[in-house]
Amino acid sequence: MSNSFRSIKGMKDILPQETPIWQFLERCLAELTASYGYSEIRMPIVENTQLFCRSIGEVTDIVEKEMYTFVDKGEDSLTLRPEGTASCVRAAIQHGLIYNQQQRLWYMGPMFRRERPQKGRYRQFYQFGIEAFGFNGPDIDAEIIALSARLWKKLGLNQVELQINSLGSNQARENYKQILVDYFKQHLEALDADSIRRLESNPLRILDSKNPTMKGLIEAAPKLNQHLDEESKGHFEQLCASLDQLGIDYVVNPNLVRGLDYYNRTVFEWVTTQLGAQGTICAGGRYDGLVKQLGGQATQGCGFAMGLERIILLMQEQTGLSDKLSAKTDVYLCSLGEAAFVYAQTLAEKLRDEFPHLKVRLHCGGGNLKKQLKKADQSDAVLALIIGEDELAEEQLIIKYLRTQSDQISVQLSELNQQLSEIFNLCVKTH
Ligand code: ATP
Ligand code: MG
Repeated sequence: MSNSFRSIKGMKDILPQETPIWQFLERCLAELTASYGYSEIRMPIVENTQLFCRSIGEVTDIVEKEMYTFVDKGEDSLTLRPEGTASCVRAAIQHGLIYNQQQRLWYMGPMFRRERPQKGRYRQFYQFGIEAFGFNGPDIDAEIIALSARLWKKLGLNQVELQINSLGSNQARENYKQILVDYFKQHLEALDADSIRRLESNPLRILDSKNPTMKGLIEAAPKLNQHLDEESKGHFEQLCASLDQLGIDYVVNPNLVRGLDYYNRTVFEWVTTQLGAQGTICAGGRYDGLVKQLGGQATQGCGFAMGLERIILLMQEQTGLSDKLSAKTDVYLCSLGEAAFVYAQTLAEKLRDEFPHLKVRLHCGGGNLKKQLKKADQSDAVLALIIGEDELAEEQLIIKYLRTQSDQISVQLSELNQQLSEIFNLCVKTH
């Protein structure tokens, strides 16, 4: 196939055999958010470029190199959203959702970043996110962490570790930046080009570097949690106490700074060792300054985003769920001859009326019985209903069991109604 007719590098089709596990995850998320009292919000995929530059930060990987930005008809600079928080805050301000009120919101959808594609890292990927506005205390931080912990339980995932840290107040972070710059300046020869550039513009980002040659230097750097302001310290201690109370295990990772500029105080990540370098499946924290920075009335914020592809990879590795979830057929209707087809078609609709959860597939495209039964077998159906011209003339139909020894029986059409409940129960039991 010519390259121009293939999907764009790093942008995947999600194929029919994969969609059942996606739908399962989406259902779990909808149930989960409802049980915590969060409401869904849906934002556009394209926003003004400035929105992301202002919120995520000019000197970040996302804004410096990963955004899909274009000029719309020679006028506005627009960008495919690389994440959801900025758009969510923009929408919340624009529609007065957070003016003197609290909000618990969630969103889900595709995000775009021009990264090097690899397992668990794509150029179009899906995020599910939570944003809570107008809550000051660590109680809401604990709530959204508990919500994420409950998701892993619901999905049957294990070996995911919660890492937490505090970035402190803006003032504390400014003071710490100076300490960090002094430290890195003493080790200039060990810094890579990106880090040297960031020394002036955004030294905290150096701690987020993925360059393995700088690992030792970063580990030995002065720690932000040694330089926290009293209020942030108290906030963090209360969060830890809440997590203890809830029985949620965590480790404090003093190098956790997150790749986006808007965070303050609590930051956290859920990490697994099972997906190679792409181990973070959920990441978030507080962003108390962001609403004001984007033109709203100062309002605290707190949220997270999770990468759904990574969660699905983990579900496939740990739970084997995907095989059990395929969209199986229960009943396959075969017919021979035009009149029988019309009858089968009507019967299929009737089955769907009476049993909305029964998966009914009507054979289309004709062919002899052998061919039709082969299709029935491939569809994973529990049974085939067969109507031929003889059956129609005698007002009968054949029920052929495809998964059991008991071969096939003939029933009067007038008796079918009685049989239907039995058929339904058999299908539920078998699938
Ligand atoms: P990473 O360190 O893996 O690049 P990040 O810090 O850039 O992640 P965030 O912007 O915090 O990630 O996004 C939250 C989550 O979204 C990540 O933890 C991850 O699960 C997922 N994610 C981020 N970028 C991608 C991507 N390119 N492909 C797939 N999932 C992604
Ligand atoms: Mg990234």
